[in-house]
Amino acid sequence: MTTGTVYVIGAGLAGLSAAVELAGRGKRVEIIETAPQPGGRCRSWFDAQIGDVIDNGNHLVLSGNHATFSYLRAIGAGDRLKGPDEARFIFCDVRSGERWTIAPNAGAVPWWIFSGNRRVPGTGALDYAKIARLLLANRGRRVADVITCGGALWERLVRPLLLAALNSAPEEASAGLASAVLRETLARGGRYCLPRIATPNLAAAFIEPAVGFLAGKNARIRLGERVRSVDFGNSHATGLDLGDQRIDLSTDDRVILAVPSWIATSLVPYTDAPDQSSAILNAHFRANAGSGAPGMIGVIGGTAEWVFAFPQRISVTVSGADAIVDRERAELAELLWGDVARVHSLRLNLPPWQIVKEKRATFRATPEQDARRAPAQTRWQNLFLAGDWTATGLPATIEGAIRSGQKAARLAAGESVT
Ligand SMILES: Cc1cc2nc3c(=O)[nH]c(=O)nc-3n(C[C@H](O)[C@H](O)[C@H](O)COP(=O)(O)OP(=O)(O)OC[C@H]3O[C@@H](n4cnc5c(N)ncnc54)[C@H](O)[C@@H]3O)c2cc1C
Repeated sequence: MTTGTVYVIGAGLAGLSAAVELAGRGKRVEIIETAPQPGGRCRSWFDAQIGDVIDNGNHLVLSGNHATFSYLRAIGAGDRLKGPDEARFIFCDVRSGERWTIAPNAGAVPWWIFSGNRRVPGTGALDYAKIARLLLANRGRRVADVITCGGALWERLVRPLLLAALNSAPEEASAGLASAVLRETLARGGRYCLPRIATPNLAAAFIEPAVGFLAGKNARIRLGERVRSVDFGNSHATGLDLGDQRIDLSTDDRVILAVPSWIATSLVPYTDAPDQSSAILNAHFRANAGSGAPGMIGVIGGTAEWVFAFPQRISVTVSGADAIVDRERAELAELLWGDVARVHSLRLNLPPWQIVKEKRATFRATPEQDARRAPAQTRWQNLFLAGDWTATGLPATIEGAIRSGQKAARLAAGESVT
């Protein structure tokens, strides 16, 4: 690559990972971000009601997410995700109070499915063999076309895991995307599905260290500035319009567009992208789950799906939350606190709370939407796309966003990338 500047538009994880990759190679990088803070859909802020920094949503990463860990190591934040040394997933059915723990063994040979203490109660090893069909599923098929979406294993493990990973009704979700997640995590053994949570919050793990790293490499981050349009010639993008300023692009300059899909399609002609999204709802409560409380519990039979315990805060995630996201905040807080109180056996009245609604949290992970994802390369030689919605082969996740940014960076650096 020549000596020009790489303009990275959007400082979410796709844009930041692209910038980190390029700045780490000594390239001149300038990031333009419309929001007053970096992070995009992975951000934190101080909330007065909770009296603490909260995240827009609890983000779960698994130890098999190798691009995420390479990004964290690059920015000096390899130690900011915390979690247990063994893969253990605790579930609670709030209707009956029943609890169970799923404990995949570390290695690739899944002997845990033969152990009554490690597998889902009410299931046998044969049930897992049937689910394994999902691993070979191709992209055009729905989960329900490949496996039976019913029974104890489905209700108590597979459905909640797929809902968390795909943020879409698992039955109608792409079997290919489900397969990609499973192949990189659970199918490789417990060592690859250790749950990891940003500690103490998302910004401290993913964003602030990246900003520090980029500052150390003299990369410029322009916050509160929106790219309104991109000018194009026959083969190259020629300029960026920021409203009160225009950036003329020289033939040496490159652009990585790392904005959400609906912005990318408005800025770049001929771009296909998913056009249906799925909501995620998070509730935060100023409460203590008690010493020794598990950091994370899957909820069955309630409205909450995952309950996360932090030192002075309990947070709840509801994925695929489109059916409830428009309800009143106070009603949601009451509803979700009911589940938290049952999960942690708390007798407290509703404590101070905050509800965070992300209506366009991710694209809907159906085969039809997956087929609309754009590749990183565009018809313009100096313009590359990044973002969790681009054709990463993964659902819209941190891992997908980071891989997309790293790929766009390699392309901008002139590498050929498959
Ligand atoms: C509530 C919630 C919970 C989640 N939970 C998980 C989880 O548990 N595990 C997981 O792996 N993933 C999770 N995700 C998904 C993950 O957060 C996203 O996949 C990832 O953050 C997307 O990053 P991105 O860079 O592709 O997009 P974004 O974060 O959307 O970044 C795009 C950036 O572009 C900026 N921008 C837009 N327009 C312009 C413009 N015209 N000019 C300049 N800048 C512009 C935006 O302000 C934004 O900062 C969750 C998402 C949400 C919302």
